[in-house]
Amino acid sequence: MNNKKNQGGKLRIIPLGGLGEVGKNMMAYQYGENILVVDTGLMFPENDMLGIDYIIPDFQYLLENRQIVRGVIVTHGHEDHTGAIHHLMEQLNVPIYATPLTRGLLEVKLARGGLLEKLQLNTIQAGEEVQIGPFTVEFFHVCHSIPDGVGLGITTPAGLVIHTGDYKFDHTPVDNWPTDYAKLAEFSGRGVLALLADSTNADKPGWTPSERVIDPAFDQVFRAAKGRIIIASFASLVSRMQQVANAAVRHQRKLAFVGTSMVENARMARKLGYLDIPEELLVTVEQALKMNPKDVVLMSTGTQGEPSSIMGRLSTGTNRQFDILPGDTVVLSSHPIPGNEESVYRTINRLFRRGAKVIYEAIAPVHVSGHASQEEMKLMLNLVRPKFFIPIHGELRHLKQHAAIAQQVGIPEERIAVVENGQVVEFENGQMHTGERIPGGYVFVDGAGVGEIGPDVMREREILARDGFVLVNLTMDRNTCRLLEEPEIITRGFIHATDAEDLLDATRKMVVQTVDCTSNGRLQTDLEQTLKSFLYSKTKRRPMVFVTLSKA
Ligand SMILES: [Zn+2]
Ligand SMILES: [Zn+2]
Repeated sequence: MNNKKNQGGKLRIIPLGGLGEVGKNMMAYQYGENILVVDTGLMFPENDMLGIDYIIPDFQYLLENRQIVRGVIVTHGHEDHTGAIHHLMEQLNVPIYATPLTRGLLEVKLARGGLLEKLQLNTIQAGEEVQIGPFTVEFFHVCHSIPDGVGLGITTPAGLVIHTGDYKFDHTPVDNWPTDYAKLAEFSGRGVLALLADSTNADKPGWTPSERVIDPAFDQVFRAAKGRIIIASFASLVSRMQQVANAAVRHQRKLAFVGTSMVENARMARKLGYLDIPEELLVTVEQALKMNPKDVVLMSTGTQGEPSSIMGRLSTGTNRQFDILPGDTVVLSSHPIPGNEESVYRTINRLFRRGAKVIYEAIAPVHVSGHASQEEMKLMLNLVRPKFFIPIHGELRHLKQHAAIAQQVGIPEERIAVVENGQVVEFENGQMHTGERIPGGYVFVDGAGVGEIGPDVMREREILARDGFVLVNLTMDRNTCRLLEEPEIITRGFIHATDAEDLLDATRKMVVQTVDCTSNGRLQTDLEQTLKSFLYSKTKRRPMVFVTLSKA
């Protein structure tokens, strides 16, 4: 630390993720030589991001300023707020602050990477206050689809900022702990410089229904099911696990959690007292598979149509442990993340084809959102009465809509900043202005590789996926550079070779002619170009073309 601590007297709000997209939430608050990070989320890839496991924020800015990062607060245990924690902590060892359940879920992640021992994790509770550098952070409880979520009141020398995290105003939440209205009103009494609020459902009119509406929907499903019930949700939707367990008790079925993340998260949440599941209710998958189908419920992940998830594998008959049986009831207790709709519906169709009865959000209320709808957004704005407003968590359309809602409740347009990742916003002397742009793009995680996959590789994967490749191997005389054998042509994903003898013959002929009249030095690149245009002229497709030379 040096004496430039309060240099500038400027509060900088630096969105690193979650603004202009749904997922990978990460916000940095900077005052002088101090940075406080809120959330470290991941985002699931879109359909056209081939082979990508997930995406994390570009936190280059934090690494460049590593000596002034004072801490990381994680607001709740969902993947889009926690999923990048080990990527950040591998490079930046700073204290982490989280409520007990969130901390437990973070520990599960950090333990897998072997990072846990090296890090400083601090447990905080809603209602408490923590001093982190010049930031006094007050945690207030919010309802969401996971217990133990918090929003933040951050008092800075430039003023008080409220960061809601994900929230809704559920009067009858599963854990009977509503959002802390009183605290929000109290903040308002002190005067709030800026509100940063969740925009995920900004295009949904009215109020988000209470989590309670799921219980009767589950009851109906359980009553009607003659065979096994398989419920898919996110491994971090702890409230949903509780509701499934409660329904299992009511309908005398045993419950088995399937998949590592589901099993580990359930164990952690039970240990910490956030899941109330009697021991005798639980069975292992192995036990469940031996039981009478009408006596069991299985709960797994895989609601987003991910091919490698349990639900994805069940839909294609490639799950190792068990298959879908005719008479199974499959419940998708979730909402497709924008961009995943197509693969979700494909999975549903495949499950039907395998004989399952599939129940999903569109046919029964087996899922409700954990995010505030428009009327709740108005309530938040009216409770907090901020001077300035910055919508967070959402695609640009959600942020714009949230801004329009803020205007409806009387916040002037010039006091609202709709910004996307990487666009810094600054507050100084009670005024807001936009600062510089910093990197705020995607970092792809692909297997063990982080950030190694750039746009070039993505483009190549698209070409390979769309039109395949053609490989031509030439065996040439070392001295004369004459072809010694017929060119060998191998194709994959381009054309079915036995149906395309004519094309392959023509290609071979073309190669022989070209080789004879081309200078040796540029043979490969020239021939690749010529082949590309030749194949395009014949097929109107653009496969990748490789030419290899062996000299004899
Ligand atoms: Zn969430
Ligand atoms: Zn979220």
